[in-house]
Amino acid sequence: MTHPSTTAAPKTVLVTGASSGIGEATARRLAAAGHHVVLGARRVERLTVLAKEIEGGGGSALPYPLDVTDPLSMRSFVQAALDRYGRIDVLVNNAGVMPLSRLDALRTDEWDRMIDVNLRGVLHGIAAVLPVMTAQGAGHIVNIASVSGLRVDPTAAVYSATKHAVRALSEGLRQESRHLRVTVISPGLTRSELVDTIADQDTKEAVTGQMALAIPAAAIGEAIHYAITQPADVDVNELVIRPTAQG
Ligand code: NDP
Repeated sequence: MTHPSTTAAPKTVLVTGASSGIGEATARRLAAAGHHVVLGARRVERLTVLAKEIEGGGGSALPYPLDVTDPLSMRSFVQAALDRYGRIDVLVNNAGVMPLSRLDALRTDEWDRMIDVNLRGVLHGIAAVLPVMTAQGAGHIVNIASVSGLRVDPTAAVYSATKHAVRALSEGLRQESRHLRVTVISPGLTRSELVDTIADQDTKEAVTGQMALAIPAAAIGEAIHYAITQPADVDVNELVIRPTAQG
């Protein structure tokens, strides 16, 4: 039986990292369900193409340049959404990078980049929408972690650290709030451009081999759609979505 307060009213959903992979698939899924999607990423030309496709199919989309490592850029992304749609129902903190390597390779610039995008970027997103959602008395923050937030593997120490941190701060946010919904989505191997962010050649080859098992990014978009369309008093806190064949 459907929960009595289930509603199909359109929501305004901000998606960071909407220019490829999971963010793009999520934007397509949510727009197809009638939600307004605000698309953020650095490759704005891709966002423009995606927004045109969505609008051509009768949906509603706003492309906007975003660098999640810059708090001012994040604030301007959120303001653009407010100017266009008047409220913010959901923020999907999805942007991420995964330049994996062993710690003793000392690729310290890549460690910093993972912390800046995967962790600080999520914090910048939370900081930008929290006052808006508090004023609205409602809102939903969806943070994309990873199965690397649940386990640690060689070459993934720093990446795993950022994803463990995303799970920790999501739980803290959930506990502190009685009006916000907080969801952590932890994907396993998923087809996207993420492997392209690996510069260490041995690691890249190993991960490319594992990606043979990967599931489509649309599978993660479907999980996000499920989480955000539950009734307001139902908070889906965590979903783990892996390929059936992943160990
Ligand atoms: P993609 O590489 O396809 O997408 C990553 C997105 O992040 C791109 O849209 C990219 O856009 C954006 N991005 C990167 N840096 C920035 C930045 N500084 N500012 C704004 N946007 C940025 O990979 P996925 O779709 O796989 O990754 C999405 C999320 O899913 C990540 O958080 C990743 O860690 C997580 N994940 C992925 C898994 C997988 O197997 N694919 C498994 C588990 C988790 P642009 O370059 O245009 O800025």
